[in-house]
Amino acid sequence: MALDDDCIFCKIVSKEIPSTLLREDDELLAFRDINPAAPSHILVIPRKHIAKLSEADPDDAELLGKLLLAAADVAKSEDLKGFRVVINNGAKAGQTVWHIHIHVIGGRPLSWPPG
Ligand code: AMP
Repeated sequence: MALDDDCIFCKIVSKEIPSTLLREDDELLAFRDINPAAPSHILVIPRKHIAKLSEADPDDAELLGKLLLAAADVAKSEDLKGFRVVINNGAKAGQTVWHIHIHVIGGRPLSWPPG
């Protein structure tokens, strides 16, 4: 599996840096966000380094589906009645880590539209 030496989430995948891991399998990991925006804030990432959603290719379709299903499953494990799933794509959308990740946010009322 291709990992990027400069990518902090690839280092979480390889366990070079620690995370509060909730689950992992051969394709993805879920761990707690280090700077939570809500009582539950979990990141779901693929092991494969994809910098952002807009760089995913058609071969990633099944993987992207698995990430979404894992996000819903993690929310269930956290007993979240309502939750938000967010993918920031690009700096203008607030992306700061260049390894695709799904934010799962819940445990407090969430207003709409987001900022
Ligand atoms: P984004 O701004 O959408 O790219 O989200 C990146 C998220 O990664 C932010 O919510 C950060 O708090 C989170 N983050 C950065 N480094 C770590 C880390 N080492 N462990 C867990 N979460 C992290």
